[in-house]
Amino acid sequence: MSQMACRCGATISDVLVPCPTEGWLLLRDQDREALERAFCRDIDAFFEAVRGGRREQWLRAHFEAAPDYPVDLPNEDVVKDIIDLHDARALLSVAECEKCCRLWVQTVPGTNVYRSYAPDEVEHAGLLRSAAYTARTANEARWAVWRQDDNGHRALISAGHTRAEAERICSEFEERRHKQTYWVAPDAE
Ligand SMILES: [Zn+2]
Repeated sequence: MSQMACRCGATISDVLVPCPTEGWLLLRDQDREALERAFCRDIDAFFEAVRGGRREQWLRAHFEAAPDYPVDLPNEDVVKDIIDLHDARALLSVAECEKCCRLWVQTVPGTNVYRSYAPDEVEHAGLLRSAAYTARTANEARWAVWRQDDNGHRALISAGHTRAEAERICSEFEERRHKQTYWVAPDAE
């Protein structure tokens, strides 16, 4: 998604990590057990390939839709990407507008097509925000901007901003540079 214009005129962005305005829907008629078994099978196959000295070959075949996939990532990151790939096929992304509280729901997993639902009550902002996130960002939390390059390396760009400043810096970097991912997160405590 990255950024989406809401009907109310506000911009919904998912550059915050963890993102307090984004959630996921698992459709009730999907077999959750079958989904979990599918990614467990892939993880098992990955470690089998690691043991058999076919790690790079397996990664290239599994992530063939992403030819730039870095093959030097730690195993932990690969496992996360295997799970994310299944999630992207099975889960619908949901985004909440912080201004009007509309929910935007993806119509097909993995696509950029969303449908909006307006609330009957607008005072319940933060529907997709966890209690842990609210506690972590209370008391005027300071915010940091992070970057991840093509090789999966993460680096802190700058810290100590208000959330609005951090989001502005993040979007400036996104406009200027390509092939890098930027996000905004509360400063480490
Ligand atoms: Zn809105």
